Amino acid sequence: MVNMGNNTMRIIDLRGKRLTRAAMLEAMPRAEMGTREAHDLVAPILEDVKSRGAAALRDFGEKFDHIRPEHLRVPVEAMREALNNLDDGVRAAIEESVRRIRAVCSSQVPEDFHTDLAEDARVSQRWIPIERVGLYVPGGKAVYPSSVIMNVVPAQTAGVESVAIATPPSRKNDQGLPDATILATCAILGVDEVYAVGGAQAIAMFAYGARGSEPQDGEVLCDPVDKITGPGNIFVATAKSMVSGMVGIDAVAGPTEIAILADKTAKPGWVAADLIGQAEHDELAGSVLITDSEELAAAVQAELDKRVPRTEHAERVATSVTGRQSGIILTDDLDQSVAAANAYAAEHLEIQTADPYAVVPRIKNAGAIFRGPYSPVPLGDYMSGSNHVLPTGGTARFAVGLGVHTFMKPVEVIEYDKRGLKTLAARINAFAVSEDLPAHGECVLSRFIDDPYDKATL
Ligand code: NAD
Repeated sequence: MVNMGNNTMRIIDLRGKRLTRAAMLEAMPRAEMGTREAHDLVAPILEDVKSRGAAALRDFGEKFDHIRPEHLRVPVEAMREALNNLDDGVRAAIEESVRRIRAVCSSQVPEDFHTDLAEDARVSQRWIPIERVGLYVPGGKAVYPSSVIMNVVPAQTAGVESVAIATPPSRKNDQGLPDATILATCAILGVDEVYAVGGAQAIAMFAYGARGSEPQDGEVLCDPVDKITGPGNIFVATAKSMVSGMVGIDAVAGPTEIAILADKTAKPGWVAADLIGQAEHDELAGSVLITDSEELAAAVQAELDKRVPRTEHAERVATSVTGRQSGIILTDDLDQSVAAANAYAAEHLEIQTADPYAVVPRIKNAGAIFRGPYSPVPLGDYMSGSNHVLPTGGTARFAVGLGVHTFMKPVEVIEYDKRGLKTLAARINAFAVSEDLPAHGECVLSRFIDDPYDKATL
């Protein structure tokens, strides 16, 4: 387990360079495995699940998770049993996490509103919960009961009626049931539709639905959902983007990443610990330090050399911190550090500078911002009350993390009565005629004149 190998992060030296926006984006460290490569691996999986349903789901479980799940849909008794056997300390941690995220979610519920534009002329907006959602909970290298909470609580707060969860089967039991803590967390939250299906095949099952050999040939195993949310590895993230449009998805929450914007006042040991903590997720995880202090960069590298060999998942961490998606970005000053942080658009951005309060308002792009040395990322992973399902790969430039809004749709209601419409009739008709869509105008005129087709009456 001891890794004495290379843990040296690459240096991206921006000092003295005046980069255009495009060049700055290009300079940012990103993963080597591109979406095209993953796309080619995922496309046949999606097709196979679409045509063979449950049989394909079992085959992929065997191929990728190395166990053929006995039950694709987890029996409720298995969840009850998992809850009964749950360690008290872990249960207390789960319940604290649920309490905090529920509190934040209840403040997130968006309000309906209306605008009166004139007498008898109103536009209202109603927020409507999505009917059925499929929530992905990762469980390959690590297991993520925390992701059950992060997905389920906002969906429940939004009022979603039908919630299904998919998570990989586990080899830790001979039936191929998912991890017991994941099942216990589902039981705590009252979710009973859980599938032992992981990876791209789970996304296909949610998108297309699946029929199959359980409980009987031809019976529906899983109904298609309206929206798929949740984090996952590159295969999960790619599959989600491939089915997007046919179903809704949240942001692409792929291999995780941290950027730490730090100056010479940061503690090298804490910075190194936070880089390692993120790298522990995945060989493709990105760990990035952005600093204007060469001394801090050297001290953090020295800490990494000391700490990486001693951490449990040393090999995975070493691969991640030395990968193309990781690095130390050296800048001239705080201004350039902020510009680099905005270009990188980290899923998690920690700010460890002399005055972190002053930096927060300057951040335009980040999935979540962790201000100051006592708000490290794992606090948000488990228990801060914020959501840990966040956009990755630079998509935080336009995408946002999971929240109650993810599970609701704003729908406008147009509420004009006779007076409100009449005052606009001639203008609507003028618009319609200008677009060569005169029947549009005639719809309105019909309500006020006998013969809207007689242009003379206009
Ligand atoms: P996972 O559940 O995402 O993936 C496991 C599945 O990947 C397996 O069930 C298998 O079906 C599939 N798979 C494995 N190898 C494959 C291959 N060669 N071809 C096709 N499919 C294959 O679990 P994981 O692998 O541990 O990854 C979890 C990921 O979720 C990590 O990258 C972590 O960083 C990320 N994560 C992200 C966030 C976020 O909000 N962005 C939050 C938590 C976790």
